[in-house]
Amino acid sequence: MNKRIVLLPGDGIGPEVIAQCLKVLRAVEGKFGLTVDTEEALIGGAAIDATGDPLPETTLAACRKADAVLLGAVGGPQWDACPRRPESGLLALRKQLDLFANLRPAVVFPELAELSALHPRTVEKGVDILVVRELTGGLYFGRPAGEEKRGGRRVAFNTMIYSEDEIRRIARAAFSAARSRSGRVCSVDKSNVLHVGRLWRTVVEETHRDWPDVELSHLYVDNCAMQIIINPAQFDVILTGNLFGDILSDEAAAVTGSLGMLPSASLSGPAEDGGTGIYEPVHGSAPDIAGRDTANPFAAILSLAMMLRMTLGLPEAADAVEKAVRAVLREGRRTADIAAVGHKGAILGCNEAGDLTAAKV
Ligand code: NAD
Repeated sequence: MNKRIVLLPGDGIGPEVIAQCLKVLRAVEGKFGLTVDTEEALIGGAAIDATGDPLPETTLAACRKADAVLLGAVGGPQWDACPRRPESGLLALRKQLDLFANLRPAVVFPELAELSALHPRTVEKGVDILVVRELTGGLYFGRPAGEEKRGGRRVAFNTMIYSEDEIRRIARAAFSAARSRSGRVCSVDKSNVLHVGRLWRTVVEETHRDWPDVELSHLYVDNCAMQIIINPAQFDVILTGNLFGDILSDEAAAVTGSLGMLPSASLSGPAEDGGTGIYEPVHGSAPDIAGRDTANPFAAILSLAMMLRMTLGLPEAADAVEKAVRAVLREGRRTADIAAVGHKGAILGCNEAGDLTAAKV
């Protein structure tokens, strides 16, 4: 069956890293005898320049019809004064596609262990965490929220609220993701203090009855924050709500120490439930290095691997891409951002990194 993906290169280094993904995708097609139809569309600043709209209707329509979307990055100082900024196009796309599950892997590649913010002995056992964060509910969207005067004093308030349906669907996304990994989910809440945490834990346990092959454990968020630092190797999938996920996914990213190696996915549900998704590197458009062929394309290429595994149902192809990236690293080849102090040998450009990875596939 032919798969269809939409490429949204966006702004800054976005087009540079997406071009490398396309090379790798073509290599995957050749190796596995499959065909992936690709269509390119505009988003962000590039779309503002061409149409005045950061998310043109044609882009939204193409994304709705696609199996998955691969995005570079949006934004840049030249659009900072626009009434609708480039980033609003991406936010609108996420909302339109109802992408409630944000998946952020944090992997310490042994070859890059020295970039970790932690001591080498803490990460040497191997760190491969997937944070599954609920993205459209919880404290960031709960109502009432606002600021007002009470008794002559300013007060501000937000509401942390989750329905059982919201908890169930993100738990399903986490259990589904765990099945294609080590099969362990650690659900993170604050059920010792918050009502929301108690419902969270109850519904996660109820949902788990349909996934008996996946191991489930629970941690309070404060303990989880400590455990990520003390012993990150213990985690497989971390399942959590919007606020805690925002913080823990950045904490886990810091454990890897390299922004240029971090992929992500935002999904409207597991593929077996018909969910679709946007796959994108965690980094932004890096205007300071755009157009210089120095960007690290691995975060985008690893996002492509996530897409192959999670939405397109091609785990062998995903493995091949991830192994190719590892092979490039193992040969000591580095883009500028991940070259340690004292690195010997030529620095890889963005294009060369893409060519090498495609060749390894
Ligand atoms: P950034 O991630 O673009 O850059 C931060 C620093 O990391 C810069 O020094 C940059 O050169 C470096 N960097 C980032 N990605 C790199 C890569 N692949 N290879 C090598 N170096 C890399 O964050 P920022 O500077 O805060 O934001 C720049 C623009 O990107 C802003 O307009 C911001 O709104 C936008 N942004 C977009 C997204 C997105 O599209 N999802 C995410 C974050 C920021």
